[in-house]
Amino acid sequence: MKIQNKTEFEQQNLFGTGTPNTAYARYFTGDSFLNPLTKLGECPVFLANVTFEPGCRNNWHIHHASEGGGQILICTAGSGWYQEEGKAAVSLEPGMVITIPPEVKHWHGAKADSWFSHIAVEVPGTNTGNQWCEPVTDGEYGRLQ
Ligand code: MN
Repeated sequence: MKIQNKTEFEQQNLFGTGTPNTAYARYFTGDSFLNPLTKLGECPVFLANVTFEPGCRNNWHIHHASEGGGQILICTAGSGWYQEEGKAAVSLEPGMVITIPPEVKHWHGAKADSWFSHIAVEVPGTNTGNQWCEPVTDGEYGRLQ
Protein backbone atom coordinates (compact mmCIF):
# COMPACT_ATOMS: atom_id res chain seq x y z
CA MET A 1 0.00 0.00 0.00
CA LYS A 2 1.37 3.40 -0.94
CA ILE A 3 2.02 5.72 2.00
CA GLN A 4 3.35 9.23 1.50
CA ASN A 5 3.05 10.55 5.07
CA LYS A 6 6.14 9.66 7.13
CA THR A 7 4.34 9.55 10.52
CA GLU A 8 1.66 7.25 9.10
CA PHE A 9 4.33 5.10 7.45
CA GLU A 10 6.31 4.69 10.66
CA GLN A 11 3.21 3.26 12.36
CA GLN A 12 3.26 0.53 9.67
CA ASN A 13 7.03 0.03 9.75
CA LEU A 14 7.07 -2.70 12.41
CA PHE A 15 10.81 -3.39 12.22
CA GLY A 16 11.79 0.22 12.77
CA THR A 17 13.20 2.94 10.52
CA GLY A 18 16.50 3.18 12.39
CA THR A 19 19.04 5.83 11.49
CA PRO A 20 20.15 7.57 8.26
CA ASN A 21 22.08 5.13 6.07
CA THR A 22 25.07 7.44 5.71
CA ALA A 23 27.65 4.68 5.17
CA TYR A 24 26.05 3.66 1.87
CA ALA A 25 24.54 7.01 0.87
CA ARG A 26 26.82 7.30 -2.16
CA TYR A 27 25.24 4.15 -3.62
CA PHE A 28 21.67 5.48 -3.28
CA THR A 29 19.57 8.12 -5.04
CA GLY A 30 17.60 9.88 -2.28
CA ASP A 31 17.61 9.19 1.46
CA SER A 32 17.54 5.73 3.03
CA PHE A 33 17.59 4.49 6.62
CA LEU A 34 18.99 1.35 8.22
CA ASN A 35 17.85 -0.60 11.27
CA PRO A 36 20.13 -3.60 11.95
CA LEU A 37 18.17 -6.55 13.38
CA THR A 38 21.08 -8.91 14.06
CA LYS A 39 24.66 -8.36 15.15
CA LEU A 40 27.51 -9.85 13.18
CA GLY A 41 29.58 -11.76 15.69
CA GLU A 42 26.46 -12.88 17.57
CA CYS A 43 24.66 -14.26 14.52
CA PRO A 44 26.14 -15.58 11.24
CA VAL A 45 23.27 -14.09 9.21
CA PHE A 46 22.98 -10.30 8.96
CA LEU A 47 19.46 -8.85 8.75
CA ALA A 48 18.59 -5.16 8.54
CA ASN A 49 15.34 -3.31 7.88
CA VAL A 50 16.08 -0.84 5.08
CA THR A 51 13.71 2.12 4.60
CA PHE A 52 13.59 4.23 1.43
CA GLU A 53 11.95 7.66 1.25
CA PRO A 54 9.60 8.18 -1.73
CA GLY A 55 11.69 8.13 -4.95
CA CYS A 56 14.73 6.62 -3.20
CA ARG A 57 16.42 3.57 -4.74
CA ASN A 58 19.84 1.98 -4.64
CA ASN A 59 22.22 1.86 -7.59
CA TRP A 60 22.38 -1.15 -9.84
CA HIS A 61 24.48 -3.70 -7.97
CA ILE A 62 25.61 -7.31 -7.84
CA HIS A 63 25.95 -9.57 -4.82
CA HIS A 64 28.99 -11.63 -5.72
CA ALA A 65 29.77 -15.08 -4.30
CA SER A 66 31.64 -18.13 -5.52
CA GLU A 67 29.29 -20.39 -3.53
CA GLY A 68 26.02 -19.58 -1.71
CA GLY A 69 25.48 -15.84 -1.27
CA GLY A 70 22.90 -13.53 -2.79
CA GLN A 71 20.24 -11.62 -0.90
CA ILE A 72 16.66 -12.10 0.29
CA LEU A 73 14.26 -9.15 0.52
CA ILE A 74 11.31 -9.49 2.92
CA CYS A 75 8.95 -6.61 2.16
CA THR A 76 7.67 -5.05 5.37
CA ALA A 77 5.90 -1.72 4.71
CA GLY A 78 4.82 0.70 1.99
CA SER A 79 5.33 0.04 -1.72
CA GLY A 80 8.46 -0.42 -3.81
CA TRP A 81 10.22 -1.83 -6.85
CA TYR A 82 12.69 -4.62 -7.59
CA GLN A 83 14.28 -4.99 -11.00
CA GLU A 84 16.79 -7.39 -12.51
CA GLU A 85 18.74 -6.23 -15.56
CA GLY A 86 16.89 -7.05 -18.79
CA LYS A 87 13.62 -7.82 -16.99
CA ALA A 88 10.48 -5.87 -16.10
CA ALA A 89 10.38 -4.27 -12.64
CA VAL A 90 8.41 -6.15 -9.98
CA SER A 91 6.03 -4.19 -7.73
CA LEU A 92 6.77 -4.88 -4.05
CA GLU A 93 4.16 -4.96 -1.29
CA PRO A 94 4.38 -6.02 2.36
CA GLY A 95 4.45 -9.81 2.73
CA MET A 96 6.35 -10.46 -0.51
CA VAL A 97 9.69 -12.25 -0.47
CA ILE A 98 12.23 -11.76 -3.27
CA THR A 99 15.17 -14.13 -3.64
CA ILE A 100 18.09 -12.49 -5.43
CA PRO A 101 20.62 -14.98 -6.78
CA PRO A 102 24.30 -14.12 -6.59
CA GLU A 103 25.84 -12.56 -9.73
CA VAL A 104 22.55 -11.01 -10.92
CA LYS A 105 22.64 -7.23 -11.53
CA HIS A 106 19.61 -5.53 -9.96
CA TRP A 107 18.30 -2.64 -7.87
CA HIS A 108 15.57 -2.12 -5.29
CA GLY A 109 13.84 0.86 -3.71
CA ALA A 110 10.67 2.83 -3.09
CA LYS A 111 7.99 3.89 -5.52
CA ALA A 112 8.10 7.56 -6.52
CA ASP A 113 5.03 8.30 -4.41
CA SER A 114 5.50 6.01 -1.39
CA TRP A 115 7.81 5.17 1.48
CA PHE A 116 9.02 1.55 1.41
CA SER A 117 10.82 -0.86 3.72
CA HIS A 118 12.24 -4.35 3.33
CA ILE A 119 14.31 -6.55 5.55
CA ALA A 120 17.51 -7.37 3.65
CA VAL A 121 19.04 -10.75 4.44
CA GLU A 122 22.64 -11.32 3.42
CA VAL A 123 22.76 -14.99 2.46
CA PRO A 124 26.00 -16.48 3.78
CA GLY A 125 28.44 -17.74 1.15
CA THR A 126 32.03 -17.98 0.04
CA ASN A 127 33.95 -14.97 -1.28
CA THR A 128 30.93 -12.68 -0.87
CA GLY A 129 31.03 -8.98 -1.71
CA ASN A 130 28.88 -6.29 -3.27
CA GLN A 131 29.76 -4.57 -6.53
CA TRP A 132 28.05 -1.17 -6.82
CA CYS A 133 27.36 0.03 -10.36
CA GLU A 134 25.66 3.04 -11.98
CA PRO A 135 22.58 4.81 -10.54
CA VAL A 136 19.11 4.01 -11.86
CA THR A 137 18.51 7.11 -13.98
CA ASP A 138 15.49 9.36 -13.52
CA GLY A 139 14.46 8.29 -17.06
CA GLU A 140 14.50 4.55 -16.27
CA TYR A 141 12.86 5.08 -12.89
CA GLY A 142 10.28 7.55 -14.15
CA ARG A 143 8.93 5.10 -16.71
CA LEU A 144 7.90 2.60 -14.01
CA GLN A 145 4.25 2.51 -13.07
MN1 MN B 1 20.52 -6.14 -3.60
